[in-house]
Amino acid sequence: MENTKAKKKMGLTTKIFVALIVGALFGMVLHYIIPSGHIKDHILVEGILYIVGQGFIRLMKMLVVPLVFCSIVCGSMAIGDTKKLGTVGVRTLAFYLTTTALAICVALAMGNLLDPGVGLDMSAISANAAEVQTMESTSMAQTILNIIPDNPIGALATGNMLQIIVFALIVGVILAKLGEKTETVGNFFSQFNDIMMEMTMMVMSLAPIGVFCLISRTFAGIGFSAFLPLAKYMIGVLLALCVQCFIVYLGLLKIFSGLNPIKFIKNFFPVMAFAFSTATSNATIPMSIDTLAKKMGVSKRISSFTIPLGATINMDGTAIMQGVAVVFAAQAFGIVLTPADYVTVIGTATLASIGTAGVPSVGLVTLTMVFNSVGLPVEAIGLIMGIDRILDMARTAVNITGDAVCTTIVAHQNNAIDREVFKNS
Ligand code: ASP
Repeated sequence: MENTKAKKKMGLTTKIFVALIVGALFGMVLHYIIPSGHIKDHILVEGILYIVGQGFIRLMKMLVVPLVFCSIVCGSMAIGDTKKLGTVGVRTLAFYLTTTALAICVALAMGNLLDPGVGLDMSAISANAAEVQTMESTSMAQTILNIIPDNPIGALATGNMLQIIVFALIVGVILAKLGEKTETVGNFFSQFNDIMMEMTMMVMSLAPIGVFCLISRTFAGIGFSAFLPLAKYMIGVLLALCVQCFIVYLGLLKIFSGLNPIKFIKNFFPVMAFAFSTATSNATIPMSIDTLAKKMGVSKRISSFTIPLGATINMDGTAIMQGVAVVFAAQAFGIVLTPADYVTVIGTATLASIGTAGVPSVGLVTLTMVFNSVGLPVEAIGLIMGIDRILDMARTAVNITGDAVCTTIVAHQNNAIDREVFKNS
């Protein structure tokens, strides 16, 4: 009886945590113990696990565009004042850019400490040179122009986040300006926003099942032996991610907002676990906004704007992978980087982070831009491609934690945090 009660009380965080661990173990059992065959390969891994896992990601993605659009319209309508919005925007951008630059510094330092590319046995690694050749990155001018929506409906239909943010901000500000005249439209957006938040909660309650299936399938497909020659590189990236998450972010949070960092991470854990299992920042937007509101007391006025923006332009985890990859490739190919090269890497990796979309593996594509800037051979990306999935998962968790920390600090600076909610969560 007692036991059943305890089970019923298990919160979403615990359930997701259990799903993550059990899913990883189950995946490894599938990979190493269960022999290949129709039941394992087609019915289980590519059948049930694939369908349920991807189905869950699709449900989360279904929420993103309507939720982001409505909540930004409502948020900017509530703030109304373009000056205030501007202040929030400038502070957010400043935080995002600073934390990204810090992340690359941490990564470069870690790379030089561990020397991941020294004495590498190249023959043990399969390079996907052909795939690297087909990677393309967008030009700087195009990246800037892409912020302006030439067709807002097209932006909504294709999920172009920056364009959606810009259009929604403008609509919200105009609704605030027109006031009573457009009350009906304002009410429509705020009621539609309520619908989307309710839908988010419904989908989130399925997160433990989704996380279990996603993690099991990933681990069932990963050959851990491929990691060995690249172990130092992987450890370098993972350690730098930990430094960024637990020292840089939590330090900034404590200094700028005074909130308890341990409690923050504990409350935010379900979102990190979800980002880890999906490797998709974009799909975590609804969950992030909801968790920040319900567990940290962060007003949606702020988070509805800063979280989608962060998921699109703030990729500190990705920047870390790119920093360590630069040191790794330089060492593997015997290229000496000068201090000026390091400065270039800090600049281009910050830009690459802005240009990286919040979906799986894009960090590898924008890495070509960073390699090109200091003359490193892009073929080196082929070396790390094979093991990138697991690092993609870890860096995505850091990417979205950075957004949440910046959001909380900006909310604190704008008196938009209900500390009682944080205290009682
Ligand atoms: N998967 C990452 C994200 O969604 C992007 C990347 O680094 O590839 O944040």
